[in-house]
Amino acid sequence: MNRGTYTTTLTTMRSTPRVLLLGGSTEASDLGRLLGARSDVHVVFSLAGRTQNRPVLGHEQRVGGFGGPSALASYLEDNEIGAVLDATHPFAARMPGNTATACAATGTPRLRVVRPPWIEQPDDTWQRVPKLDAAASAVEGAGRVFLTTGRQELQPFASVRGAWFLVRAIEPPDPQPIRDALVILDRGPFTLDGERALLREHRIDVIVAKNSGGNATAAKLVAARELQRPVVMIDRPPTPDGPTVATADEAIAWLDALLTS
Ligand code: NAP
Repeated sequence: MNRGTYTTTLTTMRSTPRVLLLGGSTEASDLGRLLGARSDVHVVFSLAGRTQNRPVLGHEQRVGGFGGPSALASYLEDNEIGAVLDATHPFAARMPGNTATACAATGTPRLRVVRPPWIEQPDDTWQRVPKLDAAASAVEGAGRVFLTTGRQELQPFASVRGAWFLVRAIEPPDPQPIRDALVILDRGPFTLDGERALLREHRIDVIVAKNSGGNATAAKLVAARELQRPVVMIDRPPTPDGPTVATADEAIAWLDALLTS
């Protein structure tokens, strides 16, 4: 599917330019708030629907998958979407690729909005692993583990032996597959004092984290550094080539340039 002549700019479209904003990250919520207050663009804020707590952002909201790249391409055409801001989470494995494919097929301008990963500091002890399974293997017999990978990513740790888990999640894991675990429900941003106290109170030996980047959940890494605890750090999935920015402000600058081109 190719739009051919649809290399129309946003401003030459017949109505208010329509932008699809793919959510799932802090940056997406920031963009939804900022663009939702503007009258020169119509923003459709799209969520996969994994969490119950959904703030109202943008001008229009939709929830649930599109049905793969071809269906997304049809959605872009049917809804006259003039640009896509892909601000899905750094660990969204499929959506960035689907979006790149659909935007290439329809000639729709696309921007990936993703914050930079955390970088290991000199006093850190990180073991970098490519996937959750490898993180689970890395904590076999590791003692008391602080698991911060999220409620939907506990299964690989269910068969780990010689470890007790402190699991932190935003919403209750259902099911919760790890037998020897304490679940605490909390949502960032987390403070350094709080993270330090948590590691001490639960006598944590090792932390497992996804390299999400950003400030909201970085304090656990500082606490680990201070208390000289190792971190098993899961690397991000690969992301498609193409224009990428790190912040909502940069994304708005990109969109404004498109609107005036
Ligand atoms: P994923 O592998 O990229 O997405 C799986 C499927 O969910 C996609 O193929 C798509 O379905 C649908 N989807 C994803 N984001 C969507 C969006 N913004 N609007 C509409 N449909 C969307 O990502 P995931 O790891 O399953 O995560 C799901 C969502 O949670 C993502 O939006 C992500 O940003 C957010 N999130 C993920 C993590 C994480 O650690 N993985 C953390 C926080 C938030 P179709 O193929 O049917 O279109």
